[in-house]
Amino acid sequence: ANIVVAEGVVLWRRGESPLDMDVVTMVVIGATMAWLAHKVGAGWREAQRQARALAETDALTGLPNRRHFLAQLEGREGEEFGYAILMMDIDDFKRLNDEHGHLHGDAVLERVGRVLRANVREEDLLARYGGEEFVVAMPGANLEEALRAAERLRRAGERDTPPSISVGCAVRLPGEHLDDVLRRADDMLLFAKRSGKNVVRWEVQKRSA
Ligand code: GH3
Ligand code: MG
Ligand code: MG
Repeated sequence: ANIVVAEGVVLWRRGESPLDMDVVTMVVIGATMAWLAHKVGAGWREAQRQARALAETDALTGLPNRRHFLAQLEGREGEEFGYAILMMDIDDFKRLNDEHGHLHGDAVLERVGRVLRANVREEDLLARYGGEEFVVAMPGANLEEALRAAERLRRAGERDTPPSISVGCAVRLPGEHLDDVLRRADDMLLFAKRSGKNVVRWEVQKRSA
């Protein structure tokens, strides 16, 4: 389109009419091509956006999936970025599936996801971590805040879902790798299960020397 306009200006300056049929044809073709390129580009960008959203989202609960959750935190691995991890697992979910069927189990998972969503802060990163496991990363939270949130989630599970959920908590130590924080939270979740379920467990924070 720019070339066509430039050519029109040159013709006009030479005293020739810029509106001969060749120029008009070129303007029309140029404008059509530009319009098509814009449309195709917009469609492609939209398809890309949808593909990315699908790849990051768990289909059943609509929450971010494990891969997206990990990618978000891995992206900040180098920073001195403090956060707490709450690892959650639904209690006796297998029995619920066995007694009421898989479809009912799916509906319960969806409901648990909604209840958890309603009980975390806007800045918290909640995800479906695995089958009937959920995880929350709480940016900037210390142990006290993490435990308050964990207890709120546990109570919400008990009251609004049931089945109940067990929660393991860990707060990132300075320079600690994501894998290690997740492992500590997972250990605490196991401890919660062994403590009789429907409880919150945490590790007393170690101090670096
Ligand atoms: P615990 O209290 O120790 O956590 O026992 P549990 O029965 O919850 O744990 P277990 O790991 O033995 O069972 C988890 C079950 O979750 C087994 C699996 O069939 C079920 N599950 C995993 N993903 C889904 C899903 O997407 N839908 C349904 N309906 N069930 C699922
Ligand atoms: Mg379970
Ligand atoms: Mg499990």
